[in-house]
Amino acid sequence: MLRLYNTLTRQKEEFKPITLGEIRMYVCGPTVYNYIHIGNARSAIAFDTIRRYFEYRGYKVDYVSNFTDVDDKIINAAHETGEEPLDLAQRFIDAFMADTKAIGIEPATVNPRASQMIPDIIDFIQVLIDKGYAYASDGDVYFRARKAKNYGALANKNIDELEQGASQHVADAETARKEDPIDFALWKGAKPGEIRWDAPFGPGRPGWHIECSVMSTKLLGDTIDIHGGGQDLEFPHHQNEIAQSEAKTGKTFVNYWMHNGFVTVGEDDEKMSKSLGNFVTVHDIIRTVDPMVLRFFMATTQYRKPIRYTEANLAAAATDLEHLRTRAPTWFSVRTELAKVPQSRLLPR
Ligand SMILES: [Zn+2]
Repeated sequence: MLRLYNTLTRQKEEFKPITLGEIRMYVCGPTVYNYIHIGNARSAIAFDTIRRYFEYRGYKVDYVSNFTDVDDKIINAAHETGEEPLDLAQRFIDAFMADTKAIGIEPATVNPRASQMIPDIIDFIQVLIDKGYAYASDGDVYFRARKAKNYGALANKNIDELEQGASQHVADAETARKEDPIDFALWKGAKPGEIRWDAPFGPGRPGWHIECSVMSTKLLGDTIDIHGGGQDLEFPHHQNEIAQSEAKTGKTFVNYWMHNGFVTVGEDDEKMSKSLGNFVTVHDIIRTVDPMVLRFFMATTQYRKPIRYTEANLAAAATDLEHLRTRAPTWFSVRTELAKVPQSRLLPR
């Protein structure tokens, strides 16, 4: 029996796939405006490892992971470099593919891109408007969070706590366009000179959350087995994905939610992130460190726990990996023998 920790229920549960022998899995991918740092790589490595384990057990895994190629950060970065936003995004998609290949990540079954799903995103938003879950306001479209069932459950929060948090923010122009401060954007009306697509609710571009709901339901079905991502995505991103998808389909969106822990830096264990500027990119690190050492380093800590990145910890991982390669031939031969077992025999019955 296979058990998974489900973030939504906060316990380990017996894993039961929707279809015997098959797994439909969606993992949120990067916003492509820079090279990925090793915090992003941890997510890619964690879910690649989980996927490979399922494949090893004989499951057929459909693995979808998106590229957010339309976003404020991309528009701003393109403005700085003088490139078109989609050209800049393509450059960092190419870099992502090269970096993840170097650390042994199996390519996804599909890597959908926001810019290539616009008609589906518009149709999805229109259904939410028609069902009364969303409203147009001054060129934008927002989702009525209070209409969603159990909004906040994934982050273990109730809606009044969230409401209080949202109303403490300084009211900006966007808040003024919302019926309620906890509502979130599905569509952002185009500002002058910005990349835009025509839609019945006005020219603009999708908000961030909607693309994952559209891609997951379109490519994998209304209900999927596993949805993964970093812990920072639990709220609001994944909560909003649940709200949008279940409002549209009336079905459970995801059966098992899985979240990996952060890579931390320094004595205070500060989360590695682009916005804090404390990051090391995979692109840079693999010039001097064997990419398999980086991968092995990630495997030294359980995937939900934080892992502290220091040069000393990385060096220790290099030594341990070397020991494993040279002094543990038995372990490798066990693995080789297991790989010969017909996959069907490894499936749970
Ligand atoms: Zn997502």
